[in-house]
Amino acid sequence: MAEQRRPLVAGNWKMNGCVADLDEIAAIRDHVASGAAGIAEVAVCPPATLLMAAARLCADSALRLGGQDCHAAPNGAHTGDIAAEMLKDAGASYVIVGHSERRADHAETDADVRAKAAAALRAGLSVILCVGESRAEHEAGEALAKVGAQLAQSLPEGIPADRLVIAYEPIWAIGTGVTPTRGHIAAMHGFLRDELRHHVAGSADAVRLLYGGSVKPGNADELLNASNVDGTLVGGASLKAEEFLPIMQFYSNR
Ligand code: PEP
Repeated sequence: MAEQRRPLVAGNWKMNGCVADLDEIAAIRDHVASGAAGIAEVAVCPPATLLMAAARLCADSALRLGGQDCHAAPNGAHTGDIAAEMLKDAGASYVIVGHSERRADHAETDADVRAKAAAALRAGLSVILCVGESRAEHEAGEALAKVGAQLAQSLPEGIPADRLVIAYEPIWAIGTGVTPTRGHIAAMHGFLRDELRHHVAGSADAVRLLYGGSVKPGNADELLNASNVDGTLVGGASLKAEEFLPIMQFYSNR
């Protein structure tokens, strides 16, 4: 029998947000406290500059925080980089690794992503691993092959299932307003669930599979109802509490 997975609604703020925007995190925290997300866990991944202040706001709150990237090393001569241990120290519970924008902007390979995921585990963080195919790969019918290869090559061997979240984010859906069909998402997530059985320690049924890419209040019901979807990674619509709230509320009546 499949394990019960607690859904996760996570916001990726990317390179957005200054001190004034901590008000949004406080508002999200208050929505979580009021039960707006129902059974779901909620997390926000702000820029690293806001992490400690956000952690102070979220002390005694169920709202979780995450980093958006980490270096593979625990410390050292890596100007501008942030270690997983630093994210943990600042109050993060999660770190996103392998986001397509990091892969594109910083030429990150699957091997880099795997090292970052291992670093996150070493530091005591849970991993949100992003995978997803390009538009050209999608149109060529290569989505499953691409994502399967990313999964195999980006996961540290024997990663504990309960410390892993996979975010399926087709690159062509990120920030574009274009979304896959529910059938496409269900097929991909079913494939991911099967593939995970070869890669994780513990039950693959414990791994949460998020869909990400242009999730908005108006399409959350359609997208998150796909089978094997255990939540969402939200970019643009997570920046304002009032836009993030209706997405969180998808889980309030379940
Ligand atoms: C993302 O970048 O993780 C993402 C899902 O972005 P958006 O929701 O803006 O498409």
